[in-house]
Amino acid sequence: MMTPRIEVGVLGATGPVGQQFIARLAAHPWFRLGWVSASQRSEGRHLADLAWQLAQPLPDAARDLVVQPATPGSGPRIVFSALDAATAATLEPAFAAAGHIVISNASSHRLDPFVPLLVPELNPDHLSLVPVQQRECGWRGAIVTNPNCSTVFLAMALGALRAFEPCKALVTTLQAISGAGYPGVASLDIVGNVIPRIAGEEEKIERETRKILGRCDETGIADHPVVISATTTRVQVVDGHTESVSVAFERPVPLDEVRHAIDSFSGRPQALHLPSAPAHPLIYLDHPDRPQPRLDVGREDGMAVCIGRLRACPVLDAKFVVLGHNTVRGAAGAALLNAELMLAEHLLD
Ligand code: NAP
Repeated sequence: MMTPRIEVGVLGATGPVGQQFIARLAAHPWFRLGWVSASQRSEGRHLADLAWQLAQPLPDAARDLVVQPATPGSGPRIVFSALDAATAATLEPAFAAAGHIVISNASSHRLDPFVPLLVPELNPDHLSLVPVQQRECGWRGAIVTNPNCSTVFLAMALGALRAFEPCKALVTTLQAISGAGYPGVASLDIVGNVIPRIAGEEEKIERETRKILGRCDETGIADHPVVISATTTRVQVVDGHTESVSVAFERPVPLDEVRHAIDSFSGRPQALHLPSAPAHPLIYLDHPDRPQPRLDVGREDGMAVCIGRLRACPVLDAKFVVLGHNTVRGAAGAALLNAELMLAEHLLD
């Protein structure tokens, strides 16, 4: 697909997710980063003068960008949001009202009835809510969200199994430190330790997954009936959320059919060859000790979700382990894929 590079901006450009946007936009074939914004703490400073937390260097093209005030109506029409939820709650609607298309990572508006909670492989049809949202809210712009980082990995696994009618799922997460933002969890809390609660996270997984897998029409989204029970923990891993999942189906399903559904899972991003689309959105790893965050989190540039250890569950029907990159497929990479789908579907024209 031949398109001119479109100028985009990043709200919340200085956190770990904002920095992932900067890194991933540097060589993007369709989008060009021309504007960055953060809080008053960072305003007026060059990106090169602020702390950079990623392993790869700050891209040369971004070094001289100056952090701008987060003023609705300033900056490009398309803005990616890596704002914390409290700030996003008011700032994202203000940007949408001022005509911006806000492609957000924040949780604040994910469950709003007319806001798409998009996983392009699973529910590209939910983008039909955008004009409804604009009409209902009186906005020239719009908000489109991606899920919580743990939700997206579970949703992709359950989405691949949707034909078998999953009706119950239990999930326990082991979530990386980078998921808590920067500076995040105190070292004295996390080193040599497991923290058995992440505030608000379990409810997000339980509710967001049902919306993502739900049916959409012009009146909104009817949640998928699957009932989910989540336990979320923080562990001393830098990047990559691991999830232990058990699932029950409406009818008995042989494990080899579950495996085949995982292996053959594909969606609209793959059909459209979107730039950030992984060739294989789900990768099944046969070795009994995989997936592991340190070895597998970077598969397909962080955009694939790895699954392993598929076996019968004596309580529900099947169980397996899922792993995904929380700041890539769980955040910036997911939002970029959303924007690519919107551009390909002419929603950014
Ligand atoms: P973070 O470290 O808290 O960064 C927040 C960003 O928002 C910073 O750039 C901050 O700027 C800016 N900001 C704060 N207050 C502001 C204000 N009043 N006006 C304008 N900008 C303001 O967060 P993060 O971990 O990068 O995550 C970003 C968002 O993505 C969050 O909503 C998070 O829940 C979500 N998310 C994160 C992950 C993950 O794995 N980390 C995964 C999925 C989704 P300053 O630096 O100047 O303070």
